[in-house]
Amino acid sequence: MYRNSDNNIMHYIRSNMISSIVSSGVYSESVIRAMKNVPRHFFVSQALRYKAYDDTSLPIGLGQTISRPSIIGIMVQAAGLSGNKRVLEIGTGSGYQSAILGEIAEYVVTIERIKELSDRARRIIFKLGYSNIRILHTDDFSEADGLFDSIIVAAGARNLPEDIFDKLVEGGVLIIPLFNGSTCIIKKFIKMGRDRDNILSEDIGIAPFVPYIKEECA
Ligand code: SAH
Repeated sequence: MYRNSDNNIMHYIRSNMISSIVSSGVYSESVIRAMKNVPRHFFVSQALRYKAYDDTSLPIGLGQTISRPSIIGIMVQAAGLSGNKRVLEIGTGSGYQSAILGEIAEYVVTIERIKELSDRARRIIFKLGYSNIRILHTDDFSEADGLFDSIIVAAGARNLPEDIFDKLVEGGVLIIPLFNGSTCIIKKFIKMGRDRDNILSEDIGIAPFVPYIKEECA
């Protein structure tokens, strides 16, 4: 796995980003460590590298964005991951958040509906040496095999896709932004039982997101 081989200036710049994340409410040591380790500048274009460690969302092409580091920190923290957990990410985008998840969880499956983004993310993730991250080109989470301890949706949904709970283990956690007007409320759901009928929910933040898009079968 990639370890900091970059110079001290980069390290200093990255530590400013970490201060913003901490002041936004991220306290989990594993999340902070992961965000220190992952080189965000690898995931944005050359032209935007000077902004890679600002606490801001950045365009990644094809009308999509890499989310703000503090929002990623809050969502990953809320997912409650540790070294023996399996996580499903919906919306690979640049692959930045996938790498953060790969630092913390045992195994990551991430799906992306845009092939070009999926291919680009796969190249970067491979280059950084993550062997526990699997990237699939699809808009359909049912193509990810098995059940997951946590699911993080990186795009805003107009309606909660209820069948997503069937991909979670009992006690599993779903983090999903739901549109409320032009912005999103980030929701945390906990599947308390084996079925969908006992779900706890909590609001964990507000942020803009690109839309979750799922082609429905005709
Ligand atoms: N966290 C990402 C940002 C992702 S932006 C990062 O770190 O870069 C959200 C992504 O979700 C976009 O790339 C979009 O194409 C993708 N997306 C939207 N709906 C999707 C779906 N149904 N399945 C898979 N990917 C989807």
